[in-house]
Amino acid sequence: MATIIDGKAVAQKTKAAVAEETKRMSQRPGLAVIIVGDDPASRVYVNGKRKDCEECGIYSEEYTLPADAGQKALLELIDALNAQDNIDGILCQLPLPAGYDYDEKEVIYRIDPSKDVDAFHPFNVGRIMIGDYDFLPCTPAGVMHLMDEYQINPEGKRCVVLGRSNIVGKPQSMLLLHRHGTVTVCHSRTPNMEEVVREADILISAVGKPGIVTADMVKPGAVVIDVAMNRNEAGKLCGDVDFESVQKVASYITPVPGGVGPMTRAVLMKNTLTAAKLHGKH
Ligand code: NAP
Repeated sequence: MATIIDGKAVAQKTKAAVAEETKRMSQRPGLAVIIVGDDPASRVYVNGKRKDCEECGIYSEEYTLPADAGQKALLELIDALNAQDNIDGILCQLPLPAGYDYDEKEVIYRIDPSKDVDAFHPFNVGRIMIGDYDFLPCTPAGVMHLMDEYQINPEGKRCVVLGRSNIVGKPQSMLLLHRHGTVTVCHSRTPNMEEVVREADILISAVGKPGIVTADMVKPGAVVIDVAMNRNEAGKLCGDVDFESVQKVASYITPVPGGVGPMTRAVLMKNTLTAAKLHGKH
């Protein structure tokens, strides 16, 4: 039976370390969260971030714009926050509401790279590529952090990442490569994906399809990290991995919920602290 990786506990430890540092700082780090429209899921995330900031001694501001606020108003808000000294990190909750004329790329590009705590700006993405970065994107960095906590070292291991999105799959594969893993990335056009997955010593799934990873695809003793956050037919939160069967084959496994999700939030706090230091706060 696999060891279940306790993302909640590791996230708590990470946030406690951030709180310890902010307690000693003369100026508090600050995070601004922008939410456009009234998507209930985004609201839940934003509330969670506010709570995390309180726990970590981080000042936070929230801006809720109506769904029809428009690109110009959103960019003006970002410009104002870029100029605000009490704000070190700016996060715009994505996706922006459908059916309006928003340009997400322009929004991402507009955030000052030194305040880009999501690490989505091409300047930061490029720096990650060459291994010289200030911030790492929260979810892939959270995965690496979990592996470190459980002394899972990707060096020399066959690592398989399912999914190639800009926010998870691609940066995840880069981080594993930096840590000397031999990395294969699978996506919707990968033929015989099951055979590739079967070779993985470390499998990271970020597809968004419940049950896409089953026990027969997993090499005995593999580490299985499930990034996905899906709803099953009963409306319950679940990952990509068939947890019940795969835990009997894997050596380590993350649950959903309680695995990668809490770490994503904890890394956001860490990145905000890093941004504050970059801005000379101490
Ligand atoms: P995304 O942008 O939709 O990307 C999904 C990826 O999966 C794409 O690269 C896609 O391939 C690939 N894919 C789709 N069907 C596939 C199949 N049948 N076989 C193999 N690959 C397939 O999603 P995302 O934003 O990366 O998120 C992925 C999952 O992680 C979602 O469940 C999301 O909710 C979750 N997530 C969790 C956290 C967290 O904090 N835990 C954070 C972010 C995301 P193509 O590129 O070919 O289309």
